[in-house]
Amino acid sequence: MAGIYVHVPFCKQKCTYCDFASFPKELGKTESYFACLYRELEGRGRALKDKVFDTIYIGGGTPSVVPAKFIAGVIRQIKKFFNLAENSEITIELNPGTVDEEKIKTYKSVGINRFSIGLQTGYDEQLKKLNRIHTAKDFLLACNLLKGENFSADILMGLANQTAEQVKKSIELAIAGGVSHISLYALTPEVGTPIYTDYLNGELLSDDEVADIYDSARKYLEEKGFFRYEVSNFAKKGFESKHNLNYWRRGEYIGVGVSASSFIDNRRFTNTFSIDEYMNAIIYNKNPEIDSAVIELEDACFEFIMLGLRTVDGINIKEFNQKFNKDFDSEYKSILLENGKYLDRDGFNLKIKDEYLYVQNTIITSFMK
Ligand code: SF4
Repeated sequence: MAGIYVHVPFCKQKCTYCDFASFPKELGKTESYFACLYRELEGRGRALKDKVFDTIYIGGGTPSVVPAKFIAGVIRQIKKFFNLAENSEITIELNPGTVDEEKIKTYKSVGINRFSIGLQTGYDEQLKKLNRIHTAKDFLLACNLLKGENFSADILMGLANQTAEQVKKSIELAIAGGVSHISLYALTPEVGTPIYTDYLNGELLSDDEVADIYDSARKYLEEKGFFRYEVSNFAKKGFESKHNLNYWRRGEYIGVGVSASSFIDNRRFTNTFSIDEYMNAIIYNKNPEIDSAVIELEDACFEFIMLGLRTVDGINIKEFNQKFNKDFDSEYKSILLENGKYLDRDGFNLKIKDEYLYVQNTIITSFMK
């Protein structure tokens, strides 16, 4: 099974930490952009007709900022040109302040069955500082529209002067809103974003402070019945995101739209980050990809380990040996010895111990050859 990612690169305004392909000034191009998306979906779908897809993720940007008929069109094209499994998980990202009853009704009518809301923090002054378009109250109004649905909230850690108590309260707000899933991310100050200046000025929290916040948030989430299944993702049992699990299991996916990346038939490729370049490529039947690489065996092995060790289930060594025709234990003998205290081994299962999962990067990079 494989996943489909569709990128909607429009937002009302730019958040201070955002380096995604999202263009507030380009909303006027919505209609022509979607016409191109539909065309790319048709081409990709026809080329991949032998594969079965069981998840769709419509992300951005803010997919909910455009009229719902465009999103309905995306689903229609996918159903027409892709081999989509029954009961597929179909997720859309929403931002508070951009949704209403009519939109949600349209989403549900075309089969969207999972929603992901960008909350980031429950504190209005922090939301304002991040240049988010909404308040905590808008978040609750969006939750109200999703009553009884399967939905998730994103929460950020590491904002200027943020405390563990504030993150806990933000989680509390999300839970009060009725979420079944929470993604808890550490703010990354990317070069070129306004928040990078705050970072250079020493205004953001240090890595150690963020690690402490993460630790207390994780404990709180677990008390509330949200179990960690990946380093940044927590869910009530049975509400894990299938689409993201497919990424971490190194499953195949096709990305459609500006900046979307794909992994199909052992090739990773990415579309252009420019809306105009993307639309020109599609209109003139050119390839919108800006890079493409066939994954060599060593890199494939590392990807399998790196992605799998981010999850609480870790990796299956038997599967590794069969997939890559190698013997994991002899291949990584010294690395396993060096990192023994961080790892849990149970038969063919290898995972990072719970208490070290947040600092997995250094452990994982040691597997790089
Ligand atoms: S809503 Fe998301 S994609 Fe849009 S500017 Fe903010 S962080 Fe970026």
